[in-house]
Amino acid sequence: MRYGGNTTCVEVRADGEIIILDAGSGIRALGLALENEFGSRPIKLSLLITHVHWDHIQGFPFFGPSYDDKNEIRIFGYDGADIGLCEILKRQMATPFFPIALYDLPGKIKIEELEATDFKIGNIRVRARPVNHPSACVGYRVFTSSGSVAFLPDHEPYESLKLHAADAHLLSPEETRKRAAEGRAGLVKFLEGCDVLILDSQYTDAEYQAHVGWGHGSLTSAVSLAVDAGVRKLILFHHDPTHDDAMVDNMIQTARKLAKSGGSLEIDAAREGAELTLT
Ligand SMILES: [Zn+2]
Ligand SMILES: [Zn+2]
Repeated sequence: MRYGGNTTCVEVRADGEIIILDAGSGIRALGLALENEFGSRPIKLSLLITHVHWDHIQGFPFFGPSYDDKNEIRIFGYDGADIGLCEILKRQMATPFFPIALYDLPGKIKIEELEATDFKIGNIRVRARPVNHPSACVGYRVFTSSGSVAFLPDHEPYESLKLHAADAHLLSPEETRKRAAEGRAGLVKFLEGCDVLILDSQYTDAEYQAHVGWGHGSLTSAVSLAVDAGVRKLILFHHDPTHDDAMVDNMIQTARKLAKSGGSLEIDAAREGAELTLT
C-alpha cells in the first residue's frame, strides 16, 4: 500500500493543459482531487489511452468529472480491436456491467480515434509509437516547454521476439533477429534524451524468464533501454500485483546497481500520489 494498489493513471500538467495518461482505477482518486481543486470552475482535460486492456480503461466509469456538464473531456486513443475506440469504451459501461451508459454521462465527452502518430494538445506536441504488447498498444511522448515525458506502461523488450516460441514458427530466425533489432533501435530513437521515462518493468530478471511473451518488461531491459536512449530519469512502472512494498524497494535498489555503469541515470518507482516537477 505504500506504492499503491491502483492500476495505471498518470497526470501531466504543463503549458495550461491537463493531460491524463490512461484511465485505470487510479483515475477515480484523480477525479476527486481535480473536483476538489477546481470547485465550481470547469475542468478541461485530455485523456490519452495507450491501449484498452482493462487495467488501463476500467477506472473511467468512476471518474467524477465526467458526471458534471460543465467539464470537457477529450479522449484520444487508437482502435485496439477493429471495432473502434468509442465502441470499446461504450461496451465496458453497457448493461449489465454498469448502471449508466457512456453517452448518458453529463460531462462533455468527445472521443477522438487517432490515426496520426504526431499531434498537438494545445501547444504541447505529442508523439505516439506502437510498442511490443498483445493487441494494439502505443507509448506516448509528451513534449512540454519544461521537458519531455515518455509513457510506456506496457511494453515487452523487443529482444523477446528472439525467445518467443510462437514467433519462431512464423518467421525465420534471421527475420526475427532483424525485426527485434529494428524495433529496439526505433524505440531508442523515439525516447532519445527524454527527461522522464515511465516504463513497464513489471518483472525481476528471474521472473521474466517464466513470462516471455506476456507483454511486460524486466529490470535489466528497462535500465538498458533508458541508458541507451540517454534518459534522465527512469520510473519503474506497472508493478506486479504479487509484489509487495519491500519487493518494489528491492527492485529499485537492483535497478540502481544495474544503472551504475550506465552514467547518470536516476531511477525511482512509481508511487501513488507521487509528484515530479520538471524544470
Ligand atoms: Zn496491457
Ligand atoms: Zn497493463
